[in-house]
Amino acid sequence: MSDSLNDLVSHWVRPEIRALTAYRVQSAAGLIKLDAMENPYTWPAALRDAWVDMLRGTAVNRYPDPTAHALSERLREAMAVPPGMRVLLGNGSDELIQMIAMSLSGASASVLSVEPTFVMYRLIAIFCGMRYVGVPLQADDFSLDLPAVRQAMEEHQPAVVFLAYPNNPTANLFDESAVVDIIRAAPGLVVVDEAYAPFTDASFMQRLGEFENLVVMRTVSKMGLAGLRLGLLAGPPAWLNEFDKVRLPYNINVLTQASAEFALRHRQVFDRQTRQIRAAREGLAAAVARLPGVRVYPSQANFLLLRTPPGMATPWFDGLRDRGILIKKLDGAHSLLADCLRPTVGTDQENDALIAALGEVSAD
Ligand SMILES: *Cc1c(COP(=O)(O)O)cnc(C)c1O
Repeated sequence: MSDSLNDLVSHWVRPEIRALTAYRVQSAAGLIKLDAMENPYTWPAALRDAWVDMLRGTAVNRYPDPTAHALSERLREAMAVPPGMRVLLGNGSDELIQMIAMSLSGASASVLSVEPTFVMYRLIAIFCGMRYVGVPLQADDFSLDLPAVRQAMEEHQPAVVFLAYPNNPTANLFDESAVVDIIRAAPGLVVVDEAYAPFTDASFMQRLGEFENLVVMRTVSKMGLAGLRLGLLAGPPAWLNEFDKVRLPYNINVLTQASAEFALRHRQVFDRQTRQIRAAREGLAAAVARLPGVRVYPSQANFLLLRTPPGMATPWFDGLRDRGILIKKLDGAHSLLADCLRPTVGTDQENDALIAALGEVSAD
């Protein structure tokens, strides 16, 4: 790049954007893919055929329904959104996080969350020119440090607090009463992000309406439709009517609307798959916990957080990749995640391959 072009870009692009590195996804070509919390199962052949038949009648020359009405109603029912609450759809929950941040941003506005957590809360805060405050979780078990969160809220007066429930990448569920304390003490909005709802029995969905500042976010990504990019926000109309104003027109495309509605009509298939993943999680956790020197943290999600013996996260991660298995290396991402790895729960065969490969790399 020429000096003058460099100067031009640095002059005009915001410094906080220039300081970022673009969100990168590691290549999974040819590998068993256990890095991104995807549902490993495809659809039964008959269901796939019926889906393709349905798509034949979908008009891609037309703009989608701008309000995605039929799909919204289907999601409202599938996710048991309480009456009186509004729903708003996003192109993935990432887009909903962005809509919330754009609506609340301002010169002095901040976003607060805990650390380590889902990185998009921090990144989107930066995109929107907001300050980000990350309050560390407790080092021993990744539970909420309630006094620290309360003190940070007092000090920074965040416009919005994001809490992933269960949390990614720590896999645990925060104490419900601690979350309620945070909702009660927060000066602004609290978003409870339930991306992993299919893998736990806990939820704040039925508590919507009990607090003026609570909204609940869900996604179809982890239940088995990550490729469609569809998230849902549920909460009091007074909040969601405002967020709706920054939504780009037609943000949910025709194919996603038709396919997600179709899939939700056959929800029992996905319910069966997510039940299978929950059951497999327990077997995988027990097998990994038997490896010498490994700590497995309790999981309420479709992935495991594990801590290797000191200094072994990189050699084990590389060793797994050499054996054809891709997981996520967390070591280096946050000080509380030293020596940590995060495999997604896969099919029985994939989990067996992971256990065998972990056995080998841990014996090296
Ligand atoms: C994976 C994940 C999401 C993903 O959302 P999309 O709907 O795929 O954009 C949201 N929140 C958390 C905590 C996640 O781990």
